[in-house]
Amino acid sequence: MIVGAGPAGSITAKFAAEKGASVLMIEKRQEIGSPVRCGEGIARRWIENVGIPLDRKWVAYEVEGAKIVSPNGTEFHIDERHAGSEVGTVIERDLFDKALARQAAKAGADIILKATVMSILKDNGKVSGVRVEQFGERFDVKAGIVVGADGFESQIGRWAGLDTTLKAKDITICLQYRMTDIEPDPDYCEFILGSGAPGGYVWVFPKSEDTANVGLGMQLPKLKKKGEMRGYLDAFIEKDERFRKGKKLDIVAGAVSTCAPIERTVADGILLVGDAARTIDPITGGGIANACKAGKVAGEVLGRATQEKDFSAENLQEYEKGWRELLEEDLYRNWMAKEKLVTLSDETFDMIIGTLAEVGVDKLSIFNILKVMEDRHPELVEEFADLL
Ligand SMILES: Cc1cc2nc3c(=O)[nH]c(=O)nc-3n(C[C@H](O)[C@H](O)[C@H](O)COP(=O)(O)OP(=O)(O)OC[C@H]3O[C@@H](n4cnc5c(N)ncnc54)[C@H](O)[C@@H]3O)c2cc1C
Repeated sequence: MIVGAGPAGSITAKFAAEKGASVLMIEKRQEIGSPVRCGEGIARRWIENVGIPLDRKWVAYEVEGAKIVSPNGTEFHIDERHAGSEVGTVIERDLFDKALARQAAKAGADIILKATVMSILKDNGKVSGVRVEQFGERFDVKAGIVVGADGFESQIGRWAGLDTTLKAKDITICLQYRMTDIEPDPDYCEFILGSGAPGGYVWVFPKSEDTANVGLGMQLPKLKKKGEMRGYLDAFIEKDERFRKGKKLDIVAGAVSTCAPIERTVADGILLVGDAARTIDPITGGGIANACKAGKVAGEVLGRATQEKDFSAENLQEYEKGWRELLEEDLYRNWMAKEKLVTLSDETFDMIIGTLAEVGVDKLSIFNILKVMEDRHPELVEEFADLL
């Protein structure tokens, strides 16, 4: 049984059902994917690797690449193929999530909506199912395994004794307006760094030629008073004449984890996947790609474990190892880099982006950026020596 019908839940459900598992997805919202809480940026290249056929229905807009902007306005452009997992396609996230759930259903998974998992059940200390509340009624659902795909606010892991707690410094709070009647750069997803978004960045992801998701993320400890996020976002919009006269179509608030990989994502009868397993990229805050990649591994392992009727922690180690092989090194490196990035001054960002704009890198990664900086500004790279 899978708790949560986001990308992690649906991809896990699809691959597990395809391998013969009997799957139930339990989702607390009344509509999958809605309301949207996302900047909606994803890269094209990983989608098909996890078995998601690109469908124009959920593609809102496509861009050439990413534009990274320093506080003094210097721009560094990079092609979408080399710009990370969040750049290339700006999606209709609600339609995307529904498309993934449809694939899970087609593979044989059942889905129930407006059903909130309230707690997990245990028999002789082993997880044996969940208690659900739906339409004012409570009932128990028994299962060989409970998959926590319940997102950033995940409770499943904690209830089962897996440590998913986050330090305040590893939480980024986000606020986004979908704005129309504006002039976003039609060719790029923009990332604007510096003190305009302390410990984070401002993003502009175009959804059409006159509409974009304009948002910002800030490291939680840098927030000092209520309403501050709105102040920063409004100040950015007011300063940029492309957005000043824009109108809001919706407002989204949420949070992402920016932590190092957690120690354990499986226990007897329990498996965590996606944001619940804290696999969001600590630098970009993007998590859809990692949720889907790990979801595929989870589904395949669960298919096998179903045939063997063995959901012990030991038999789920293949998932623990599998997702770590794919993601752990980058997550750890990006977390270390994030720890440093949140301390940099506007002048340092100007220097880094100025150098990148001059020299260029063929692929946007912390390692490549540091290699370029090692040559030009060795004094800065000293502080990042562990990452090289
Ligand atoms: C403002 C913002 C902007 C973002 N922008 C991007 C971006 O541009 N690109 C990107 O890649 N990532 C982005 N992210 C991160 C991305 O949204 C997540 O990484 C992604 O949604 C992870 O998928 P998931 O399936 O793990 O979790 P979710 O998509 O959060 O799905 C979890 C599901 O579980 C359900 N659920 C939770 N608890 C229960 C319960 N007790 N019972 C039943 N159901 C439950 C929820 O209703 C939800 O549907 C952004 C996040 C935020 C907050």
